[in-house]
Amino acid sequence: MLEKELVRQKELLEEVYRSSPRLQKVALKDLLEALEQGKILYIEGLSLPAFRFKRDWRGIPAGTVVAPGFYMPGFPHIPRVFVLRTGVPRYLRGPFYAEEKIEGYNVRLARLGGEIKAFTRRGFVCPFATDRWPDFLPRLPDFFDKFPQYVVCCEVAGPENPFVSEWPPYIKEDVGFFCFDILDLASERFLPPEEKYALFEEFGFQSPEINGPLSPKKLEPLKEILRRYEAEGREGVVLKPVSPRFGRVIKYVTAISNVSDLKVAFPYIGELDPSYVVHRLVRMVITRWELEEGFDEDFYRQVGEALFAEMPALLDRISRGLPVEEVFRVRLRREESFEALLSHFRLAQVRIEIRQKEWRSGYLHVEFAKIYPKATSFWASKLQGLAQID
Ligand code: ATP
Repeated sequence: MLEKELVRQKELLEEVYRSSPRLQKVALKDLLEALEQGKILYIEGLSLPAFRFKRDWRGIPAGTVVAPGFYMPGFPHIPRVFVLRTGVPRYLRGPFYAEEKIEGYNVRLARLGGEIKAFTRRGFVCPFATDRWPDFLPRLPDFFDKFPQYVVCCEVAGPENPFVSEWPPYIKEDVGFFCFDILDLASERFLPPEEKYALFEEFGFQSPEINGPLSPKKLEPLKEILRRYEAEGREGVVLKPVSPRFGRVIKYVTAISNVSDLKVAFPYIGELDPSYVVHRLVRMVITRWELEEGFDEDFYRQVGEALFAEMPALLDRISRGLPVEEVFRVRLRREESFEALLSHFRLAQVRIEIRQKEWRSGYLHVEFAKIYPKATSFWASKLQGLAQID
């Protein structure tokens, strides 16, 4: 970064610091040093000076966004249990809700400097979700008029999203915004489930399927929900106590969601940490065992197909000199949002090729491919006959 730009950003961060009692828990000198070291990054394109935390730092979680008078913590990680019978009563001591865990990507919608913006898990402004929220949450401005200190956390999911290639089976086109939490910035706490469900209802916000309250002493109803999700190809559940007095939030996923993760990941297997595959195999086996879903020919075929069915076509492509790529489709309300999405990919160093772009029924429909040079050379070097000591 140019010296002049660093000086400017330091001045802006100091301004943010002066307005934020939460940030003042750390020394200004340390904060400015973290900026110099790239642990805190300036967010371009907002009407107020804003910064995001790249990693966890001094008790401030990664993805936290700060601006004058504004401190929005990063969305917390949710611990996973592998077994319901022992895991649920270990973390939940009273009634809880089972919310569907939606497969998509997380955004936090907040009003900052008069504008409603969607922030990704890492604290970037998401150009796609910022463009599309009015289609799905038209009453969000009324919500923020009434509750300016709240943040709406939701999963953007569906076949036409720019980031993830898995989505709930019941979304056949475009995307949905599934609201699952409301964060109160004043207390830095999530609202209790029943309070947030009432607000979702009042403002017409779509939420994931909600079941409950359930009891940690009677798990059969929860197991039934998960068997149904397995049959329907849904991801799993996030279990949320009716009140924090009754325990903490945990997650549990279906076996099928692990199978589909493996299917999506196999082309990039050379780039993944081996634990990615191991974790999913372990979860899958324990879940099928606990829910008595069977270890039979069907299951073995399902796993084998997920892992290998698309590999011959991929190897053909690579042997013809073509790269590993993933094709995405999105629709946007404004051309500038697509330009912002492209800059976002540039910043994140993702290589994009635009395949198609056309206006249809008021939306800019774009098809683009993400090109993966590392995954390509992983397979290509082998197909070219290079020997390796392993
Ligand atoms: P995953 O669990 O999907 O592999 P992760 O490793 O990011 O993702 P966590 O850090 O535990 O996992 O976050 C849980 C994720 O689940 C969040 O990204 C959140 O957006 C998503 N999610 C989907 N549905 C819900 C829900 N109903 N309640 C809470 N989180 C949900």
